[in-house]
Amino acid sequence: MSSSPAAAAAASDRLRRIYLNVETTKELWWAVVSCFIAVLAGVRLVEVFLNVSRKAQIPSDPSALVEQEKHEEPARRRGAIALRRVPQAAVTAFRIAAFRWTVPIGPQARMLMADVWVILGYMAGVLVWDLTRSTHLEPAHNLNTKFYEDRSAHIASAQISLVVALAGKNNVISFLTGISHEKLNVVHRAGGRMIVLLLWIHAIGRLYTGIGNFDYFETTWMKAGLVGVSAYTLVALLSLRPIRTVAYEFFFITHIALTALAIACGIVHRPECQHYFWPGFVVWAFDRTLRLLRLLTINLRWWRRGDKLVKGHVELISPGTVRLTLRRPIAWTPGQHAYLILPSVSTLPSEAHPFTISSIPYPVDGSEAKSKEHDMVFIVRGMNGFTKRLHQHADEKGSGSVTAIVDGCYGYPPDLATYSTSVFIAGGSGVTYTLPLFMNLIRMARLGKSSVRRIVFIWAIRDRDHVRWIGESLLQAVDAAPAHVSLEVKVFVTRAAMETVPGLEYAEEPSPTPPNASNSSISDKQAEKKLSDVETLATALNVQVGRPDVAQLLRHEIEPALGRISVNVAGPAPLARAVREALASDIAGPVGVLKGAPTVNLHIETFGVVGA
Ligand SMILES: Cc1cc2nc3c(=O)[nH]c(=O)nc-3n(C[C@H](O)[C@H](O)[C@H](O)COP(=O)(O)OP(=O)(O)OC[C@H]3O[C@@H](n4cnc5c(N)ncnc54)[C@H](O)[C@@H]3O)c2cc1C
Repeated sequence: MSSSPAAAAAASDRLRRIYLNVETTKELWWAVVSCFIAVLAGVRLVEVFLNVSRKAQIPSDPSALVEQEKHEEPARRRGAIALRRVPQAAVTAFRIAAFRWTVPIGPQARMLMADVWVILGYMAGVLVWDLTRSTHLEPAHNLNTKFYEDRSAHIASAQISLVVALAGKNNVISFLTGISHEKLNVVHRAGGRMIVLLLWIHAIGRLYTGIGNFDYFETTWMKAGLVGVSAYTLVALLSLRPIRTVAYEFFFITHIALTALAIACGIVHRPECQHYFWPGFVVWAFDRTLRLLRLLTINLRWWRRGDKLVKGHVELISPGTVRLTLRRPIAWTPGQHAYLILPSVSTLPSEAHPFTISSIPYPVDGSEAKSKEHDMVFIVRGMNGFTKRLHQHADEKGSGSVTAIVDGCYGYPPDLATYSTSVFIAGGSGVTYTLPLFMNLIRMARLGKSSVRRIVFIWAIRDRDHVRWIGESLLQAVDAAPAHVSLEVKVFVTRAAMETVPGLEYAEEPSPTPPNASNSSISDKQAEKKLSDVETLATALNVQVGRPDVAQLLRHEIEPALGRISVNVAGPAPLARAVREALASDIAGPVGVLKGAPTVNLHIETFGVVGA
């Protein structure tokens, strides 16, 4: 018996739906996600190429830089708009809109416009590919949920490996784009939430149109589907900022366990679609294996029996701040960070916290390192859980050794060799990021491998006492600076200013209350010596009382500058915001660039996964 035209159309619709489920998923991957990553990788490639060609032009004789400056002198006479500078002005305008403008996303958090665009673009792409092309041969079925309920599940499942990759410390996207893992985290979160939304579209759609027969719920594949969606939903709920902030380790462990459960359930739910799911495990295992191998290589001394775990030296350097020094057989790029695991301080074996390596692996004076092992110096502010316990440990036990495992190094800090002016601005412990960049730049200048002619190092600290954190390294770097580099170091002590000046522009990072302050292990004699150390350092560094006016300081540097400028910032979010706002104004705007002002590149390290 021949079927009716309506039945034939319905059958044909079904085939079209099945075809589109797979096709749209592929298109989204290749046309949207992969193309976007390819564009970012292309931009990085161009940057690398430009950097290499600029480096090739650095004169080996530093005095040639001074000559070069004399030739550039006419460029100081800015004023007329030069059409040949349109590309630089356009890049400046883009940088301002993308990386200096931010939008509030909560009481204390802001998001970069670049992140907003990426997230909205990604969401729009997913929804367009998910919800369009729903015209049926059978008109009665037009816009029927059947057309996108299963497609949602296909698209969601295909995003899993991407979302897992975006969370990994060692991920191929970071490698291709040069965007550090903690900066990619914002897209990881958006992608994860998108998966949950799509899975619910699938579940509700199926409930609405497909699952009239409730016997379905007795089947293993259906139970697996329900558990999977529930697990994913829990992952999203437990990742909300308040939970992450209050109980990071709880968030972290449940995040991994529930995601693994959800992926496994996906395989049971739809074994024929397992190719969407298992790559998620592979990506995760790749990251973990690499981390484990690196961790073993860096931390374990195979040739020494009984002393397998290498120690670190811990000391209290000021109330609330601990310095941890680890000697390890690795070199790192100045400005990178690493994860620290201290078994005697951690409550859970999985507890690893990120800290920036505040030292550089080579002597700042340009000489060769004497050993293949280098001192990794970490400066840790005692805040809450882990850092507070570390502080307590140093306070109660005094200076001494502690078992320490380091996992790293991570991050893609900027290469400053080709800028003619570099400005470093740090607030409090943010100096752990600017100091190594500063020291490395001085080393490169000494070696004739940098075109830097002016360096300004600004550091705002709450208490005078904090100069001890890095005072000696800073002085060594200042002493090592070559004569052809004009160098200025400005250290501001803000607490005295806070007491006298009302209406502060930005809040400092919170000053941690030292645990057992009354029970401090620092004796009177030690305290006296420390005080005299502080005074010596403060005098040598010309420490001033007050709050840096970053806009004024930046204007002062940018207006007379000749070549490209790099501004590097780390510290409390309000400090980063103040710099962003200053550099989004006429100080470094596109009109100035059109008239001959130098371009300014801004690099901000926020010590967190949320933009400042
Ligand atoms: C790239 C980077 C570099 C940093 N460098 C320094 C530094 O040089 N000196 C310094 O004092 N601080 C630095 N921090 C901040 C430091 O990592 C946190 O202050 C510390 O982890 C908080 O731990 P806690 O024990 O005080 O608080 P917890 O209560 O354990 O955690 C509080 C918050 O810290 C964050 N956090 C905790 N563990 C992690 C983790 N494994 N990954 C990401 N975030 C986490 C979470 O937002 C959490 O909500 C850096 C952070 C990052 C991301």
